[in-house]
Amino acid sequence: MKELLRKIPSIHEIQQDGRFAEMVKEQDISIEQGTGLIQDAVANLRKHLLKGTWEGPLPGSADLNDFLLQQAEQAAKNKFSYTLSKVINASGTILHTNLGRARLSETAARHVLEIARNYNNLEYDLEKGTRGSRHKHAETLIREVTGAEAAMVVNNNAAAVFLILSALGKNKEVIVSRGELVEIGGSFRVSSIMEESGADLIEVGTTNKTRAADYEDKINENTSMLMKVHRSNFVIRGFTEEAETEELAELASGHEHVIFYEDLGSGMLYDLKNHGIGSEPLVEDVISKGADLVSFSGDKLLGGPQAGIIAGKKRFIDILKKHQLARVLRVDKMTLAALEGTLLDYLKGNEKNIPAYRALLMEADELKNIAHETAYFLLENCSNFSTEVKPDKSQVGGGTMPEVELDTFVLSIKHKWMDADKLEKGLRTAEIPIIARIHRDELLLDFRTVDAEEIPYIQNALFDLDRQG
Ligand SMILES: *Cc1c(COP(=O)(O)O)cnc(C)c1O
Repeated sequence: MKELLRKIPSIHEIQQDGRFAEMVKEQDISIEQGTGLIQDAVANLRKHLLKGTWEGPLPGSADLNDFLLQQAEQAAKNKFSYTLSKVINASGTILHTNLGRARLSETAARHVLEIARNYNNLEYDLEKGTRGSRHKHAETLIREVTGAEAAMVVNNNAAAVFLILSALGKNKEVIVSRGELVEIGGSFRVSSIMEESGADLIEVGTTNKTRAADYEDKINENTSMLMKVHRSNFVIRGFTEEAETEELAELASGHEHVIFYEDLGSGMLYDLKNHGIGSEPLVEDVISKGADLVSFSGDKLLGGPQAGIIAGKKRFIDILKKHQLARVLRVDKMTLAALEGTLLDYLKGNEKNIPAYRALLMEADELKNIAHETAYFLLENCSNFSTEVKPDKSQVGGGTMPEVELDTFVLSIKHKWMDADKLEKGLRTAEIPIIARIHRDELLLDFRTVDAEEIPYIQNALFDLDRQG
């Protein structure tokens, strides 16, 4: 060890080694940064050799340069890397909240890139040559696809609810059914957000039954709003009743000072009921049934960026746009670009461009064939896997349509001696992480959420695992 200590090359010597320049170039870092990493690697090795605490294999004195350069290269990879990275979603859950919910369409992604790279008219009126409003972007498209008089966009739907309650319900009473006091994703509770906003929550009805008359009984001169909240992430069955959109719209319209607001949660723009999927209301229908305001997420069923979309009557939207919180909750140009791109796909009838829609509408037979392709690949190229293609269900995810189960076929994989947890971890820690499901000690891959060009990568990752194992 003393011998090795004496042989540690000087920093200068390592810098002269052609492999240093290569490493710096490969890692796309400066000479100074590369030198710093080499200094760290040398200091680290020296410290451990002196104390005799080095863990793992030590190099021979002839390989020291190579060894230190490798240490520096690994350090560069760790230090100069993103924490936010692409993953392959083979779970079959389409709007997976942990995996970034919706993937953007090509139209949306291209528009984001163009706007991000260039100056743009975010707050500039090109006709008048004067300052313009960022609110006008996306508004025209939202009006087109929802039939609403006016619209605006904020950071997410939670922000939309907060803005509406703060601007129109503060110090006044807002009536909500006890059956709709929902909690979404652990941190968004209607009752808490109401309290934060300064609006007084007036609960009516019971958990399973609320009628329009229950709302009517509670309306007084201090009532500002009837609020209906989409249950989104749960269903109630059996002896149930709720007040319909039309009824509440009519009730509110009979009182000058009362508005009707519906928090739709997901906000569907394209009717999936025609494909036998779920019973989500269309935004357009809720507007035409007379809701004064609706709000919904950009990255749930809409399949766009994280955003909260508010649509409805112009006189209320105007109040919201002028409220102090509108500035606090406003969205960036890239969000607006992504939303415009997504909405344009809808407007042109190109829903199929939107990845969430493609995934929702994929047929079980098609998924069966795709699963079989990878099963054949494993059969031909790997020796330790056994596979089975079997019927299963995919989820929509994102707290959306919890009752909907989409028929799919999954590829179930077992390995001769690696258990499902080990396989799952192997895929999850691949260079591009692959997220799979485990069920009863079988690894399941659902190709509903996988792009065709991602399949060879999954196959290679399994091939590598087979050889390591
Ligand atoms: C998801 C959801 C929200 C929150 O929307 P985010 O865009 O995630 O902030 C609010 N209300 C309902 C009914 C929802 O389903």
